[in-house]
Amino acid sequence: NKQVILRDYVTGFPKETDMYITTTSIKLRVPEGSNGVLLKNLYLSCDPYMRTRMRYSEEPQFSPYTLGAPILGFGVSRVVDSRHPDYKKGDFVWGFTGWEEYTLLAAPQVLFKIPDTDVPLSYYTGILGMPGLTAYVGLYDVCSPKKGEYVYISAASGAVGQLVGQFAKSAGCYVVGSAGSKEKVDLLKNKFGFDEAFNYKEEKDLNAALKRYCPEGIDIYFENVGGKMLDAVLLNMRLHGRIAVCGMISQYNLEQPEGVTNLTHMIYKRVRMEAFVVTDYFPQYFKFVDAVLPDIKQGNITYVEDIAEGLERAPAALVGLFSGRNVGKQVVVVSRE
Ligand code: NDP
Repeated sequence: NKQVILRDYVTGFPKETDMYITTTSIKLRVPEGSNGVLLKNLYLSCDPYMRTRMRYSEEPQFSPYTLGAPILGFGVSRVVDSRHPDYKKGDFVWGFTGWEEYTLLAAPQVLFKIPDTDVPLSYYTGILGMPGLTAYVGLYDVCSPKKGEYVYISAASGAVGQLVGQFAKSAGCYVVGSAGSKEKVDLLKNKFGFDEAFNYKEEKDLNAALKRYCPEGIDIYFENVGGKMLDAVLLNMRLHGRIAVCGMISQYNLEQPEGVTNLTHMIYKRVRMEAFVVTDYFPQYFKFVDAVLPDIKQGNITYVEDIAEGLERAPAALVGLFSGRNVGKQVVVVSRE
């Protein structure tokens, strides 16, 4: 059983060498008398929050990974053995699993049966999985978009951002996104249908850039980045604007998070800023799938994935999120069947 193991807790930017690949043996059977499920992992999801589990903390927000054990994350798997009443051999599932070929879940906690296999199974790491639900509830439940409103999205070409933009367009909003390369900006404008997009790395003054691309101001900011970007956005919010605090990837590798100085603008503009965590919305998962699956099948929503082939490439794929190497949702293929 090939596995990706965390070598040591990480400070600063994670590196490929913070992880290593090892092989152990595993019995491909769920032990008698247990309620377990044995999974063959097919697709693994690289997600920014995983960085927070690579850090040791006395007061962890997310429990730190166990050193010497496989990294954990969301993935798509096939059930190869089960003693659990809700899962049977052959079922396709997505949920928390190990970064390894096979995972024995003694007591599955977050494990959804895949409702439709007529779409690529890898989509359940993204558009039909955790990031898709994040985009959906973050925009609709947290921000209540209205036709004609101005929406701005940072890290807009990634797993979550590309979907927020498309959902906002379908709600009749004017949508602007930022990303870190020309290729990504082209995707935003030409593939995902954003009205405007810019490369934030080429902008010395983010406030000026936002004034240029969002001259009317911003009604809804979908926050993926934090730090200087948030500070600049606060100067550009419109009256009664909403900010969905989804993530702050620019802060995850800093030992000392950056300060935000423009919060008083929230008062002037009566801005509501609300953070959310997608796991709180998992009970709505199947409702969400019913809402978006037809649009995916009819081609009304496009979805771009960045596929790394093989578990050996998983450490590089995960680390690449923090330098923006991924173009679209970063997926690792462990096995296609
Ligand atoms: P992405 O697919 O967008 O990948 C991460 C991207 O972030 C990179 O490609 C890079 O794109 C950008 N990035 C990396 N470092 C920085 C930086 N220092 N400054 C600005 N941009 C940076 O990831 P996801 O779509 O999966 O996640 C997006 C955000 O949503 C993250 O903050 C994540 O933590 C959060 N999240 C929150 C959830 C919740 O429940 N609240 C659930 C899921 C995700 P670029 O080239 O554009 O810089």
